[in-house]
Amino acid sequence: MAIVPSTPEPRKVLSPASNPGESMIEASLRPQSLEDYTGQEALKDGLKIAIEAARQRQEPLDHVLFYGPPGLGKTTLAGILAHEMGSQLRITSAPALERPRDLAGLLVALKPGDVLFIDEIHRLNRLAEEILYPAMEDCALDITIGKGQTARIKRLPLKRFTLVGATTRAGSLSSPLRDRFGLIQRLEFYRPHELASILMRAAGILKVDLSPEGAEAIAQRSRGTPRIANRLLRRVRDFAQVRANGEVTAKVAEEALAQLHIDALGLDATDRRLLELVITQFEGGPVGIETLATSLSEDVVTLEDVVEPYLLQAGLWRRTPRGRTVTAQAYRHLGRVPPQQMQALPLSMLDDSN
Ligand code: ADP
Repeated sequence: MAIVPSTPEPRKVLSPASNPGESMIEASLRPQSLEDYTGQEALKDGLKIAIEAARQRQEPLDHVLFYGPPGLGKTTLAGILAHEMGSQLRITSAPALERPRDLAGLLVALKPGDVLFIDEIHRLNRLAEEILYPAMEDCALDITIGKGQTARIKRLPLKRFTLVGATTRAGSLSSPLRDRFGLIQRLEFYRPHELASILMRAAGILKVDLSPEGAEAIAQRSRGTPRIANRLLRRVRDFAQVRANGEVTAKVAEEALAQLHIDALGLDATDRRLLELVITQFEGGPVGIETLATSLSEDVVTLEDVVEPYLLQAGLWRRTPRGRTVTAQAYRHLGRVPPQQMQALPLSMLDDSN
């Protein structure tokens, strides 16, 4: 019985965004406390101090902005903050707050100390932002009564709450909104050993027989992203169940992921096509992102937000003022010899054979 599709659906498997139908399983894997939240040590230290200080003052936590690529744990952190402060979490996202009254309604319904999580906060429209300013600063909702010359503003008090904003693009946030966050924290990609420990914890919850070496093998291919790691674990589990008595060893994990066309660095067919394109059509770059998007029939935002961050992190890609270039490592990863001028660059420092 074939359990792995012969035509891979790589963007779905390796997408850092949540796939439809995944939210229940993701919720079951979300750590509830900072103790159980692996990695992001500097960020956790900052949060621990902020939580402790707020607790001592018996006040809600300052407003927090988390930024970084999808799937790194921003929503999870919002839940942990609410849990640590003993309060309720309300989750929404900017695209769901199109009309001013959607946001106003949410704000009015908040109870003292509630944590309001707004995902993709850079997509809030101007009207919604203007409602948020007094809410964040003065715990107040300004509503306009009447129209034209007779219009006046009535101020309604709100309960003190904590806004947790999440964005993949901190640079797209307006500065008045950004300035109203007391804490601004960046999430980093996870290291393989951190992902391996996230996987061992998830395997315990999902009752998967995962060996530490199996966890390492999956972690190496998870693009630094817990959401992808957990998703790959579920795919590998299916494979192990049918082909290997359920035990996920390194070999089983490698075989299962190879069937999904995911390579040793966690690249899929689209990533490799992108690198090949820059190498074969543009001599390694520089080339504009729009040109690449057109050639691959992808949109620029997907390339910038989803594909590029990991290629940069993996040392395969560079953004320069003149466009994108691949690195010598990208040539090698694809089994090609990098051009002479690239070999001379900082690789001499990295290459321990020199
Ligand atoms: P984001 O909001 O940044 O897109 P999420 O918070 O939804 O990411 O996390 C995606 C999945 O990854 C969740 O199922 C969560 O359990 C898991 N996850 C993320 N970060 C961690 C972590 N540090 N430790 C354990 N699991 C994590």
